[in-house]
Amino acid sequence: LIQLYIPLNFLGVLYREIRQALTDIERMFGLMGTHREVADAPTAGALARGPAEVRFEQVGFAYDPSRPILHAVDFCIPAGATVAVVGHSGSGKSTLARLLFRFYDVQQGAVRINGQDIRQLTQDSLRAAIGIVPQDTVLFNDTLFYNIQYGRPEASREEVEAAARAAQLQDFIARLPDGWQTRVGERGLKLSGGEKQRVAIARTLLKNPDILIFDEATSALDSKTEKAIQAQLDAAARGRTTLIIAHRLSTVMNADEIIVLDQGHILERGSHAELLARGGAYAQMWALQLEERAAEEEQTAA
Ligand code: ADP
Ligand code: MG
Repeated sequence: LIQLYIPLNFLGVLYREIRQALTDIERMFGLMGTHREVADAPTAGALARGPAEVRFEQVGFAYDPSRPILHAVDFCIPAGATVAVVGHSGSGKSTLARLLFRFYDVQQGAVRINGQDIRQLTQDSLRAAIGIVPQDTVLFNDTLFYNIQYGRPEASREEVEAAARAAQLQDFIARLPDGWQTRVGERGLKLSGGEKQRVAIARTLLKNPDILIFDEATSALDSKTEKAIQAQLDAAARGRTTLIIAHRLSTVMNADEIIVLDQGHILERGSHAELLARGGAYAQMWALQLEERAAEEEQTAA
């Protein structure tokens, strides 16, 4: 009987590990409790690694049929370019990221990578090519080291440490009594929003993906840390296809194209200079943020 027990026990452990990994991914995107929406097509092929052109083609989407979220959204991120999406909260920005990662399938139009409809790609190959720093990072109930190395499990210790440095985490980790072995998450040390965000940034830099998504990736950081990290994010985005979703417009100024999303419609699009010259919604948001920044600086000076 013991001979049977050992392999069964092993299978049990393996099963739990796999369940945990799936749970981790779902938690990362706040999908716990929602059922999986998509499945691999029987004819699905693997996405080849390398330069990737991302195209949203007349995309229409609703979580609930009675309430459409995106309407004929159409834009292209050429391989290696950066497109930024800005707009009020609730306008559908994060939904774009979820559709590109294929947590949901579009209802109209298509999302394409190098011309291939992502519904014809295996989810594994699609997700391997995309790195995302989500709006709300959920950490795994494990060590800091595990949480960062998760970006690329076969990465060496040196690579994990370099990613942590790029995300301005080295001093924070050095001050912890247990350092890299500190357990974080539910039953460990609770990290602040900004610290979690830096862990997610380190994880994504380590993953080194062809396609990068920053979903308000620096929203929880103070402006000094944000400045320090922004240079690393810009470096990471160079040569990679990047979708930036941002609230603070200072982070999108240099994008090749900026899209203003309003209730799921593209309201305006163009470069920073073009949109300012246009004097529309973007120019208004920009003026408002300049005022806010001036007020902030006055406060810190006082
Ligand atoms: P943004 O990132 O621009 O703030 P989102 O893309 O997160 O906006 O959300 C767009 C709209 O879709 C919002 O009104 C939001 O309430 C709704 N929404 C987001 N996620 C879900 C969901 N899982 N089920 C139903 N509605 C959702
Ligand atoms: Mg959002």
